[in-house]
Formats: sequence, structure tokens, C-alpha cells
Amino acid sequence: MNLTNEQKMIQETAHKIAQQELAPKAAQVDRDLTFPADGLQQLAETGFLGMTIPEALGGGGADTLSFVLTVEAIAQGCASTALLFLTHGLAARALAAAGSDEQKSRLLPAMIRGERLEALAATEPDAGSNPLAIALKTKADGDDFVVNGSKVFVTAAEEAELYLVVLRTDQAKAPIDFSALVIEKGTPGFSFGKKDEGMGLRGISWGELVFEDCRVPRVNLLGAENGYLGVAMSFAGLAMVGTAAISLGIAQASVDAAIGHAKSREIAGQTIGHYQGIQFLLAEMSTALAAARALTYSSVHGQALRYRDGHRRGAQSPAGAWRKRVQPRVAVGALLSRRARTHAALNTVRDVERDAGQNARGDAATIENKRRTSHSGRFSSTGNRSAFSQRIYLRLLRRQFPSFS
Ligand SMILES: Cc1cc2nc3c(=O)[nH]c(=O)nc-3n(C[C@H](O)[C@H](O)[C@H](O)COP(=O)(O)OP(=O)(O)OC[C@H]3O[C@@H](n4cnc5c(N)ncnc54)[C@H](O)[C@@H]3O)c2cc1C
Repeated sequence: MNLTNEQKMIQETAHKIAQQELAPKAAQVDRDLTFPADGLQQLAETGFLGMTIPEALGGGGADTLSFVLTVEAIAQGCASTALLFLTHGLAARALAAAGSDEQKSRLLPAMIRGERLEALAATEPDAGSNPLAIALKTKADGDDFVVNGSKVFVTAAEEAELYLVVLRTDQAKAPIDFSALVIEKGTPGFSFGKKDEGMGLRGISWGELVFEDCRVPRVNLLGAENGYLGVAMSFAGLAMVGTAAISLGIAQASVDAAIGHAKSREIAGQTIGHYQGIQFLLAEMSTALAAARALTYSSVHGQALRYRDGHRRGAQSPAGAWRKRVQPRVAVGALLSRRARTHAALNTVRDVERDAGQNARGDAATIENKRRTSHSGRFSSTGNRSAFSQRIYLRLLRRQFPSFS
């Protein structure tokens, strides 16, 4: 796919941050269950956290593909940070698309600055793939809604400050009585329940939100009452493509680690990359990754067409659903198992992680070298670039060279 100059610049900037700042800490984040707060702050400082928000509201106004490229680049450095970035970006997009003027001016600035993280809360014990089974109830009472029930599997449950909660507002109007409320941490009657621990993406906590006679002011309704479907259109499709982009980033890091190992591991005087059996594996991995990437990016194009201006413009084909949901995951599963085979039996799983960390550090050193040698040429020309991409580049430059102005 041909990327515009602006998309390339955004991708490069995100890649630099991911490799230089996120990747070196990624293994520790995963091993010690450390919430990657620093990484998020770096993304806020460079302007990335607000990239899905229109410029008129103080955000970056970046296009959908730029967002997906950024998610992928971040996942290549640290998958946990990428999932947080995706969730926050989706919630911000929903707020920007469906929020009232009061909500936007009250909530968005702190989200863009990374001071308040927003979580999405839709899943329930009996409502995962099937959102129509959502049962969290609320009753209107004067100027408030009174919420009773729980949500599970909420990314960054305890670290977030704001929660976009999907619930039922009027059972008599089922199944179109879904509404979204923005509930703030600290609201009486809102607490945290069981915490889950993932097998991967371990820098993130997942947890349960519990509501017991929790009163939420009506002004916190996002979009119209019983109008959640309209809100969902602003981000639900992108959530799936964004998840595929995280898988792509993880897969790319895996392929890079496998190639790095094949180039450095010597047996009988030859690096194992010289052996055809290993080359076949690497070629297959690279091919599957290229196919998954092409399918993911083309799905973004479909999303943009279907959800233009927040309105759905046509039915999604079964092939489209397959592209978005299945293919990238299948490809990534295959890649990961092949990467393990490239590393062979001598390496334990931990060794594989260690190698990935070394590879990431190697990449960071290479990037640093490239930056030194190409800095003047690459950063001085700003023709054909949007205000947003220029801004994030300049912010990155200032972080790296404090004397730069
Ligand atoms: C990394 C991660 C982060 C998440 N973060 C959040 C979050 O921030 N907020 C939130 O609300 N939720 C979050 N979730 C939960 C997520 O939305 C649910 O896991 C998802 O909706 C699937 O629901 P489930 O796990 O209950 O699976 P189920 O719905 O039980 O599905 C189980 C399996 O059955 C398949 N299946 C389901 N229906 C059909 C069908 N009709 N035909 C064929 N196969 C079917 C599914 O594909 C799946 O393989 C997160 C999940 C993950 C993995």
C-alpha cells in the first residue's frame, strides 16, 4: 500500500519512540506486571495520545490509517503499551464523535495530555462476542441514572480515570435500549472487583467494575439515550482493525528476532541463516506477515469508506469480516510458532524473550546511528506535511535534543 508522506512520517516517529523508549523496558513490563505509565506519558508528550481527536478539539486530526500504523509501530516495541494506546484512542474518538460540547471541553484536554486515561467497559460474564446480551441495568431517577451490576475484562480497569460504560436504559425498548455513560473514578457506588492476570500483555491489568446504586448524572450520557449504536459506529470497527495491528506489531518483532538469531547463531562455522531449512522458515514468516499487513491496511480503507462521517455506508461482506478478525490472528499464531522453531531447542522460552530484548536494543542502537547520520536531512524538510505530523516530529526532536528549538 502506498502511504502518504504524512503517514510515513507518523509511522517513523512512532517507530522511533517504540524502539528507543518502549522496547528496552518491554520485557520487564511483561515479567513484573508493571503498568507502562512512562510509555504512555511519552506518547502524550509527543502528541500521539490525541491523534484520533480532530484538530478543532485540540487533537492531532490524524487519519484512521495513521492511527493503525501507530498502533502497529508501538506494538513492535511494547504490546502492553499498544493495547492501552488503542483503548484510550478508541474511547477518545467516541467522546469526540458523540460527546456534548460540555463533555468534550471538560474531558478531552486531560485525555490528550495523558493525565486521564479512559477505559472501555462493554464485556460482561455472559456478554462477550454477543453485545446484545449486555445486561447491566440503569434506571432514570430525576437528573441521574442509577446503575447496578458489573463489567468484566476491562483493560486498565484500576489505572483509568474515566470509563465509557455500555448499559441498558429502558428494557421496554429492547433490543435498542443500549446507552453509553461516562462514569468517573470516585463516583459513590462504583468500585473495583476481581482482577485478572493475562498470559500475555501482562503490563496491563484487566479487572471488574462493580456498580451498586451508583448515581451518574444525566449529563454524562454519551450520545442520545438508547443511542449507543451510533456511538459504537465511531470506534467499534476500528477496535477490530486496531487489535489486528497489535498482532502485526508483535509478529514483526518476532520475525526481526528470528532473523537476528539466524544471523548470529553459529553452528559448525556457519550462521544458521545459511541453512536452507531455516531460510524457508524465515521466508514463510515474512510472507505471512506481508499478507496479514496488506489485509489489515486494506480493511482500514474499507472502514473509512463504510463509516464515513460516523454513518454506516453499506453492509460488511463476510470476506471483510474474515480479513479483519481471522486472518491476522492466524498469521500471527503461525509466525510465533515458526519463530520458536527458528530459535530451536537449545533456547528456553525465557531465552527467546531475552534475545528479543537484545534485538530490540540492537535496533535502538541502529536507529540512533541512523538518526545521527540522517537527522539534518530528514527533519529539516517539512514540505508536504500536516501540522500534526510536523508537531509530533518537533516534539520528538526536542525530547532527544533539548537544545533544539
Ligand atoms: C486483550 C483483550 C483486551 C480486552 N479489553 C477489553 C476492554 O477494555 N473492555 C471490554 O469491555 N472488554 C475487553 N475485552 C473483552 C473482549 O471484548 C471479549 O473477550 C470479546 O468480546 C469476546 O468475548 P468472550 O471472551 O466472552 O468470548 P466468547 O463470546 O465467549 O467467545 C468464545 C469463542 O466463541 C466464538 N464465537 C462467539 N460467537 C460465535 C458465533 N456466533 N459463531 C461462531 N463462533 C462464535 C468466539 O469467536 C470465540 O472464539 C478484552 C479482551 C482481550 C482479549
